[in-house]
Amino acid sequence: MQDKDPVTLVILGASGDLTHRLLLPGLGTLLKSRPEYRVNLVGAAADDLTADQWADRVREGLAEGGCPAERVEQMVAATRFEHLDVTDPAALKAFLADLDAAGHPIVLYFALPPAVSIAACEAMTQFDLPEGMRLAIEKPFGSSYDTAHAFNRLLTSLVPERQMYRVDHYLGKATVLNLLGVRFGNRIFEPIWDTANIEQIEVIADESLALEGRAGYYDHAGALRDMIQSHLLLVMAMVAMEEPARIDEVELRDLIVHTLRATHLAGDDPLTASRRARYTAGSIDGKDIPSYVAEEGVDAARNTETLAEVNLEIRNSRWAGVPFRLRSGKALWDGFRGIVIKFRPVVHLPEGFHNTAEPNVMVIGLTPETLAIGISTNAEGDRWDLEQTTLSADLSESPVRPYGEILQGILDDDPLLSVRGDMTEECWRILTPVVDAWASGAVPMDEYKAGSNGPDNWR
Ligand code: NDP
Repeated sequence: MQDKDPVTLVILGASGDLTHRLLLPGLGTLLKSRPEYRVNLVGAAADDLTADQWADRVREGLAEGGCPAERVEQMVAATRFEHLDVTDPAALKAFLADLDAAGHPIVLYFALPPAVSIAACEAMTQFDLPEGMRLAIEKPFGSSYDTAHAFNRLLTSLVPERQMYRVDHYLGKATVLNLLGVRFGNRIFEPIWDTANIEQIEVIADESLALEGRAGYYDHAGALRDMIQSHLLLVMAMVAMEEPARIDEVELRDLIVHTLRATHLAGDDPLTASRRARYTAGSIDGKDIPSYVAEEGVDAARNTETLAEVNLEIRNSRWAGVPFRLRSGKALWDGFRGIVIKFRPVVHLPEGFHNTAEPNVMVIGLTPETLAIGISTNAEGDRWDLEQTTLSADLSESPVRPYGEILQGILDDDPLLSVRGDMTEECWRILTPVVDAWASGAVPMDEYKAGSNGPDNWR
């Protein structure tokens, strides 16, 4: 395949965790499976990383993603690292002007702490930016509806929305993309994808891992902000959205936001529509887990939840009356991640069967990527007994990791898998009442033992 035109990918915050753990390996997977991409990689951070240390990180990260050794060495030889305080307008201006002189499109990837990203954007309002520059922004996209809105205004004062790539790597997950294929590539699902046939939909992202030393980030975020606010709401919207006429960035994102706009807390009441809990000491796979508040770096006074559940309703004719339950937590025994679609019972079961037909359940696993549908069949022993049989399949995995998929979109200048500004605002509009209710203490903080399936009183 012919090489693509080169793009300059600048990572601000190149010495950080995201770059090391996710961005470089993701890029490695992309370059492995799509060698035609030509990327001039530039790293920048405020600290004392040397050029050699940066080269080592690039080498390690790309190799981890499976990028062939020869290509890794080409990338290492061509990359450079700059010491830069991104909040300094003069330094940032000179840095960008120098990059612009190379004449290639520039992607500025903000792998920075959120407050520093905002400060860098404010610094950039003070000078003209390189023509066509794309901005890649990491979550969190604000911390409430108002802050998300203010951040979006700041961003669009810099570049048009079309050049903005808000990254939610769940949109790069193969299963989430498979959802489109399963829903719209089959005759058998769309006609029954509605309130007449579906009783309940759950989107769940539990994990068996506990804090794993990430208190610095997690204790300020918690399960609601970390998982439900962006990832799970977007997955839910892709499960529930109307059928796109074509898959392009305008149509898909319009339909996602259209669904989010119709989404509300169940009964509009954050007190009954949300629950939160925190794990206490327990064990998982034989490993002792301390209670969350005893984990290093956790400040109990922040009252951060490690398990969050929100019940929603989508007020349109397709979904009226169908509860949508979103849940995510840490230190849970089975770590299930996926979408569970529970169908309504059959309208009429012919007389003569000895038992009732269990409603069908469809489970789309996010990690690992699977599809399973429970159907009623005649039992082997007594032909007039019905029993459940599961039809299951492994869905195709992408050879490219989610961050590679996201980077591919950015390099191609295709924001299909990026979060548009109005999507972030809608997600915050839905959840801000929950954030406020939790902050006021109106919703109790329940407890569950690490390694259990959540608080006893949640069952
Ligand atoms: P880190 O704290 O590990 O890294 C932050 C980076 O920003 C460092 O390279 C730091 O350099 C740099 N930096 C800070 N201030 C400045 C400045 N004034 N000028 C230049 N560079 C600066 O954060 P993460 O990598 O974990 O997170 C980055 C972003 O990605 C955040 O928005 C986070 O929410 C998001 N994210 C992170 C995930 C993860 O797993 N880590 C997952 C999903 C999203 P220095 O050391 O010199 O200060």
